[in-house]
Amino acid sequence: MDDSQVFTTVSSLRKQLDWRAKDSKVGFVPTMGALHHGHISLVKQALKACDLVVVSIFVNPTQFSNSEDLIKYPRTLQKDVDLLNTAGDILIFAPGIEDVYPPNFENISVDLGDLGTVMEGQFRPGHFNGVMNVVKRLFDIVEPQLAFFGLKDFQQVAVIKHMVNELKLPVKIVECDIIREASGLASSSRNVRLSEEQKVEALALIHTLHLVKALVLTYSPKKARKIAFKEFKKSGMKLEYLEIVHPYTLQSLSKKWVPGANACIAAYCGEVRLIDNLQLVTIEEK
Ligand code: AMP
Repeated sequence: MDDSQVFTTVSSLRKQLDWRAKDSKVGFVPTMGALHHGHISLVKQALKACDLVVVSIFVNPTQFSNSEDLIKYPRTLQKDVDLLNTAGDILIFAPGIEDVYPPNFENISVDLGDLGTVMEGQFRPGHFNGVMNVVKRLFDIVEPQLAFFGLKDFQQVAVIKHMVNELKLPVKIVECDIIREASGLASSSRNVRLSEEQKVEALALIHTLHLVKALVLTYSPKKARKIAFKEFKKSGMKLEYLEIVHPYTLQSLSKKWVPGANACIAAYCGEVRLIDNLQLVTIEEK
């Protein structure tokens, strides 16, 4: 394993980028570590599309509204480095908090409108403000042409695209499909906190999303949601939200299906908060 690719300060990463990034297309994959197949799929897409790929590993405290969740968030840097080194030639950026948030750090504020108040915005106050600030800061450091985000965090993708538009940032956001375990459970860093029984219980998420999809041709979004909601309640999980939303505005659909309509769900499996989502209507049809 070659640890020379791990940069822990802004200056060391910038030095390397200034040397290597001239005339190359730089791709960036921001992560909070505890890497799994989902992250690696983003990295592989970045490696395909770019000349140079930076992966950041930073557990950003400002996006956690629950301090317990922050404390319990898995941190597995050495394993992450080993996994990334098997994926290809990557610059790994694992900065300390003082590098991401220096004393002169200035918070940005972007009005998210309704994008920021629904779903995750409702249940995790301040979350997207933390996400936007850390992503903007990391963009400023890395200066990527392309940045790769997973659709596992469906609302996050919408928020980041909105921020990039509002601030006119010179970066293209590439959306990457959700990667799942063989069981159907969406891969997540939080899955390591689930027992084997809980991993089975957590399948209620994807089963519910599939149920909503099966109801598209027969029922309105409102009715489909109601049926799926009832079904989900039979599981041992505690539901936070189940929404059927417009793919860009994230507003709840009630009467009519639209292309790209998406079902989003968040629930607790024991103490572990999990999210998932599924496209219900393809963008091309209807
Ligand atoms: P995180 O480390 O959880 O902040 O995630 C870093 C990036 O990986 C985000 O863009 C996530 O959406 C993406 N990601 C996490 N899990 C998955 C997954 N199962 N499939 C696709 N992308 C994912």
